[in-house]
Amino acid sequence: MAERPFIVGNWKMNGTRSMLSEARAIDRASQRLMKVEVALAPPFTLIHAVHKEVQQIGVGAQDCHSVEEGAFTGDVSASMVLDAGAKFVILGHSERRQSHGEDNALVKAKAQTALNAGLRIILCCGESEQVRDAGDAESFVIDQIRASLPEISGNAGEVLTIAYEPIWAIGTGRTPTAEDIGSMHRAIRALLVELYGEETSAAVRILYGGSVNPGNAAELLAADEVGGALVGGASLTAESFLGIVLAAADLPSDG
Ligand code: PEP
Repeated sequence: MAERPFIVGNWKMNGTRSMLSEARAIDRASQRLMKVEVALAPPFTLIHAVHKEVQQIGVGAQDCHSVEEGAFTGDVSASMVLDAGAKFVILGHSERRQSHGEDNALVKAKAQTALNAGLRIILCCGESEQVRDAGDAESFVIDQIRASLPEISGNAGEVLTIAYEPIWAIGTGRTPTAEDIGSMHRAIRALLVELYGEETSAAVRILYGGSVNPGNAAELLAADEVGGALVGGASLTAESFLGIVLAAADLPSDG
């Protein structure tokens, strides 16, 4: 595991103010686990409230619009989530690619706008089961990342995180083997080295996401080139999310 592991909870469309107690508990425990960078991405409606409740953990958004402002009823811009307290935004999640028709070009436009607004980005990628069964997972994911990445004028290591999330592993209880995760993450690392050079790309963490839970976190986080986890279902209670954070804290560091 390179650098400080990054464990991010994606609450998806879950959570009202009654869930702020979970965020508080996660924050309190994380203050004793400084070895791990911990963050939550609550729904838009809770970003400001979570930001106000926490001291240690980061807060992010699950999406933002591709343009800065304008007549887009119901949408939320990058500068709005920044103003609410978000420091990063998750983009290109497979649930948005599938149910909102987001393609690589749109993800790239959103990522560019988010960076311009001053947000860090977590760029999601991942193959379907059909693509994996056809033996095309790595080329699919590499093409997807290439086509979704924005221009990064500053230091990519400071603003970019990649989350590899095989679609068939999200919310299903199924996970790839640690070998398969390591192989995909090495391919993503090679792309990052090609794009940003050895030194800069070393600071870009590559998260694994898909059915991570306290029981499998230690094994999945120990896979080659895994720099943390993006966690859906198991991030909804402090108890299960902190089980994953603790597993990350217990990993031997290679530095
Ligand atoms: C996700 O959707 O980002 C995710 C990883 O979900 P889960 O942990 O529930 O599989």
